[in-house]
Amino acid sequence: MTDACAPPRPCIAALIVAAGRGVRAGGGLAKQWRPVAGKSVAQWTVDAFDRHPAIDRIVLVVAADSDPAHWPHASRCDLQIVIGADTRGGSVMAGLDALEHHADLVLIHDVARPGIAAPVIDAVIAALAHHQGAAPALAVTDALWRGDGTVAGTVARDGLWRAQTPQGFHLSAILAAHRAHSGAPADDVEVARAAGLSVAIVPGDEANLKITGPGDFARAAHILTTETGKMDIRTGNGFDVHAFGPGDHVMLCGVAIPHARGLLGHSDADVGLHTVTDAIYGALAEGDIGTHFPPSDPQWKGAESHIFLTHAVDMARDRGFIITHADLTLICERPKIGPHATALRARLAALLRIGVDRVSVKATTTERLGFTGREEGIAAMATVTLVRP
Ligand code: MG
Repeated sequence: MTDACAPPRPCIAALIVAAGRGVRAGGGLAKQWRPVAGKSVAQWTVDAFDRHPAIDRIVLVVAADSDPAHWPHASRCDLQIVIGADTRGGSVMAGLDALEHHADLVLIHDVARPGIAAPVIDAVIAALAHHQGAAPALAVTDALWRGDGTVAGTVARDGLWRAQTPQGFHLSAILAAHRAHSGAPADDVEVARAAGLSVAIVPGDEANLKITGPGDFARAAHILTTETGKMDIRTGNGFDVHAFGPGDHVMLCGVAIPHARGLLGHSDADVGLHTVTDAIYGALAEGDIGTHFPPSDPQWKGAESHIFLTHAVDMARDRGFIITHADLTLICERPKIGPHATALRARLAALLRIGVDRVSVKATTTERLGFTGREEGIAAMATVTLVRP
């Protein structure tokens, strides 16, 4: 584990406990590896911490026999997978051991709470400036009964709270508390209190539900896709022009098309790929090709333009986006695009790593008007759609 945290800001780790069997949720596969709203429960939970700017590293504790194919990934934080124990307390201990000397504060979170939102994480971290521990909770507002089929009595709800995670602590204090603790604690607050640590209560969130039974998956899907507005849908556009010059072919969408002239450019001048690449960068708000591949850099002289497109596609995927659609319009009198459209579309789909049914390549002229009408060059425009579920 590298140490990128610099004082005076404390280094903050998220310890996500994902070593349980999750049998109450049904379905065979442990609940943390099951899909909800387009990705696994564990990936949603990791993503919530990965995108929070105060979190520096993530430790995910898994069962010894868990399938690595299920393990989530992180794009910003350092993510370490640690093998846990048979008990929750033992798994937390394994995660804390891995973090020793590598963090100042630790937020211990149940993997089955994928709806954790930034304000709750913020509140826990803020409270740790003045407390040894801090955890979110919701005041009990429903009446509480005691009973077994019939009501045998009521219980005063004053001062009662429904505990949530992440439960945050100063790492050295909670590590010592766990090492000194024996038995099977309900949660880490119980361990902290047994060691004499004070734990502040900060506001919890109804969306931070714990997936327990089969019905909770539908509730979680609703929260993850609507209530917290986490689905991110983006549209990007691109536009590019290259002038004709000497040559015997033009490159369009990675396909060489015979023509009496070539296209001028620093790279291979593939106006189609440049336009789609810029549309992806646009959707990501990441500038354009020139930002990432400066024309002043001689290493891109004559470069094949699929290099640029692959960079943009990887950047989108690294940020959790799926490219769902691309629509490219080529504007020229010649060469005639129609006979090559199928080949261009197939090549573009392959480079985008999506189905050909999600890729459109069409062509038009400007009725002999303007620079494309005078056959001075080729223009292109593109729209792409990116979705992060
Ligand atoms: Mg260009």
